[in-house]
Amino acid sequence: MRILLVEDDKDLQLLLKQDLEKSGFAVDISSDGIEAEYLGFEGIYDLAILDLGLPQRNGIEVLKSWRSKGIALPVLILTARDAWYEKVDGFKAGADDYLAKPFHIEELLMRIRALLHRVNNHSAGLLQVGGFSLDEDKQTVTTKENITLELTGVEFKLLRFFLIHPEKILSKSTLTEHIYDDCSDKDSNVIEVYIRHLRRKLGNSIIETRRGQGYIFKGEQV
Ligand code: CA
Repeated sequence: MRILLVEDDKDLQLLLKQDLEKSGFAVDISSDGIEAEYLGFEGIYDLAILDLGLPQRNGIEVLKSWRSKGIALPVLILTARDAWYEKVDGFKAGADDYLAKPFHIEELLMRIRALLHRVNNHSAGLLQVGGFSLDEDKQTVTTKENITLELTGVEFKLLRFFLIHPEKILSKSTLTEHIYDDCSDKDSNVIEVYIRHLRRKLGNSIIETRRGQGYIFKGEQV
């Protein structure tokens, strides 16, 4: 899952990026409203964290602009403490959730997870699909035989994206786009290698190849 982090406070930026990456998210940072607005239109993000007080264009305007052009990107706004009107304005502009500064990173991570599950029609809590359940804290997967398997960083990112979108054809370039950030060296052929790793761990039939189209995670299998 790839997150657009819009925040002009450099210290907070770095801190959040580090913690989000540790949790298996690819993160691109933007420090001003105009660039953020543009990036939101790219259609490559799974979620945006949007600070409201931004140089060039404030967060509310950025959000309004996205929504007026039909961008359904899930947005969590960061508001100032005690500024209840910011929350109201944020929701009016189309925010999905908010967090008031200062906050604990654990709360932000839980809200992001809940929001990603919700907008993709999954229940809160463990991500459970096709007999597999993913522990997003420990980055492990448990099979229907109750065997818990460790995952490497990329395997976890890939499996989470598959579980969020079961039974959908996902092309190599889509998978690459949602697993790596802008600074990563993106080679979509590497995806094949990680698909092979996942099949070895979870069973060959769990990820189907559609020639020339991509891969499908078989979510119906129980
Ligand atoms: Ca700010």
